Amino acid sequence: MIKAGVLKKCTLYLLFSLTLVLICFLFFIYFESNKHDVIAGNIKPVEAVDCILEPTVVIDPGHGGVDGGCVGSNGTTEKDINLSLSEKTYSLLSTSGMCSVMTRTEDELLYDKYNDLGDYTGKKKIYDVKNRVRITEENISPIFISIHMNSFPDKKYSGTQVYFSPNSKDSKLLAETLQSTVTKYIQVDNTRAIKKANSSIYVLDRLTCPAVLIECGFLSNDEECILLNDDIYQKKMAVVFCASILNFTEDYVNQG
Ligand SMILES: [Zn+2]
Repeated sequence: MIKAGVLKKCTLYLLFSLTLVLICFLFFIYFESNKHDVIAGNIKPVEAVDCILEPTVVIDPGHGGVDGGCVGSNGTTEKDINLSLSEKTYSLLSTSGMCSVMTRTEDELLYDKYNDLGDYTGKKKIYDVKNRVRITEENISPIFISIHMNSFPDKKYSGTQVYFSPNSKDSKLLAETLQSTVTKYIQVDNTRAIKKANSSIYVLDRLTCPAVLIECGFLSNDEECILLNDDIYQKKMAVVFCASILNFTEDYVNQG
């Protein structure tokens, strides 16, 4: 015969176990919903006040709106991949505690962001890039990363290549870090070297902060175009970008 005291103890243990299971379940739901937010790029940006003493990473998805950039043979548009990869990189950086912002989060050009003109006819492209520089310079200590896709008439070419601004030695270091990390972890056959940008890349020509433009791969290469469209491949690339930026930032901050 079971004594009343033992029965009471058993009931308490049962209640305790059920509560524990419920708490675990609630934690699971919480983490799953946050995981979804990170993947969807809905993480709230770090408050500006936290970024005063820290570098802010400005992620710039190239092109947008009427300017689609280059197009793959399967109809892939550069502007869409640029935005998707930028969102993933931004989410990871924010989750890592880095101050980061994006120049655009929608499918749009940024020429009329500051309402400088009444009529932008014939000036949309130049005001778009001017404003990308302006957005970057609104941050106290920016690090500029522009995300693009490449294209070439000969379909055989593939691989990431990073361009750097000629205006600061840190830009070259950032480009080297990104290029070598991409090669090491996701493109072991990539023999491309980093390249100093000339005046044809307006944003790198004008910015004086650490600034790079990543040509992530060639949409004109059918195999690479499929990869660049792939969600998992984009996530891998975002992780590599994030790791490179964190690595660079540590040295950049320490050197003062
Ligand atoms: Zn482009």
